[in-house]
Amino acid sequence: MNRTSNRIEKLRKSLKADRADALLVASVTNVGYLTGFTGDDSTFLLTPTRALVISDGRYTIQLQQECPDLEIHIRPVGQPMNGGIAEVVQKLGIRQLAFEGSAVSVADFEAWKEKMPTVSFVAVNNRVEALRMVKDKGEVVAIRQAVDFAERAFAMLRAGLRPEETEKDTADALEGYLRRVGASAASFPPIIAVGARAALPHARPTATTRIGDDDFVLVDWGATGTPYKSDLTRVLVTGKVTAKFEKVYRTVLAAQERGIAAIRPGVKARDVDAEARSVIEEAGFGRFFDHGLGHGIGMDIHEAPRLRKESDVTLQPGMVVTVEPGIYLPDWGGVRIEDDILVTPDGFEVLTHVPKSLDQVRPTG
Ligand code: ZN
Ligand code: ZN
Repeated sequence: MNRTSNRIEKLRKSLKADRADALLVASVTNVGYLTGFTGDDSTFLLTPTRALVISDGRYTIQLQQECPDLEIHIRPVGQPMNGGIAEVVQKLGIRQLAFEGSAVSVADFEAWKEKMPTVSFVAVNNRVEALRMVKDKGEVVAIRQAVDFAERAFAMLRAGLRPEETEKDTADALEGYLRRVGASAASFPPIIAVGARAALPHARPTATTRIGDDDFVLVDWGATGTPYKSDLTRVLVTGKVTAKFEKVYRTVLAAQERGIAAIRPGVKARDVDAEARSVIEEAGFGRFFDHGLGHGIGMDIHEAPRLRKESDVTLQPGMVVTVEPGIYLPDWGGVRIEDDILVTPDGFEVLTHVPKSLDQVRPTG
C-alpha cells in the first residue's frame, strides 16, 4: 500500500463514525495530502468504495501522472466546481454528504443546497488534519530537508548582515538565499525586526529601520521544500549586550529548553506550554509572553497540534512542533527563540541546529 492509499484507508474510518455516505475534501492542501496531487482548484470525494478527484482540463495530464490509482472527473468547460460536485454526488447516489466545514464558503454551501436538494449535508472538521498531525517517515525526511534549506540560507544571511541595510533589504536577501540553496520559496514572508520593532511578534520588515539602528535583530524564517515547511527564530546581537537584554535572552532560552525537555509521547500539548511558560512567569515576564508556545509544521506553516494553554492534544511519535517562547517589551524590543522538534517514541529530537547560546548569536560577516 503506498502512502496516499494508506491515508485514504484511515480517512474511510472517519466516514463510518460520521455516518456519512461520502466525505468531500475541499481544502487543497488536504487534497494534496490524500492524493499526491500538487496542483490547485481540485476537490476530493471519498466513499466507502470510491475515491475521486474533481478537477478541470488544465490538470488532466498532471492528475493521470500524479494520481494513477484515483478516479478523475474533469469538469467540462463552463461547468463550475459546484456543478461538478453536484454531478458526481448525484451520479454516485450519495444521500448523506460530510464536508470540510472550515474549507467551504457560505456561498458555495448555499449553491450546493440548491443544486442537490435531496442530499443532506453535515459539516465536519479536522478529519484530515488529525491524520496530518502524525508524520510518516517520508514526511519527516521532507521536513528535515526544509530545515536544512533554512539553516543554509541563515548562514548566508549571518555572513552578509550589513548595518546600513534595512529590514526589508535583509528579508528580501534571505528569501533569495532560501531559493538559492534549493527551497521552492520561503515558508512565509521572513520577519526581520530590529530592536523595538521586535516587540511585535509578527513585525513586517520596514524599508526605514536599518540593521545597525539598534543592538539586536530578530529573524523568524523558514523554507518550503517538497512541499513541507520549516520555521525557526533567532535573535542576532549586532551591538552591545545590555544587562536587560541578557536577562530577557537567558530567560527565553531557559524557557525554550524547559519546554523542549518536556516533550515526549503521552504528554499533553498544554503541559509543554505550561512548563516553558512557568520559567518566564517566575522571572517576572509572564504578561509579556502572550502567545502559544508552538504549533505543528508540515504542509502548512501552522497546523495541528498547537502547544498552548487550551490544547487538549496528547503528543504522539511522529508529530513535529515548534517551541517558540518569547518576551516582548513595548518600546524596547523582543526576544523569541524557535526550533522544530520531532516527537520520537522515547522523547524528542531537535531537528534544527542553529546555535542559540548568547555567545553564539553574533553575525559572522
Ligand atoms: Zn517562526
Ligand atoms: Zn512558528
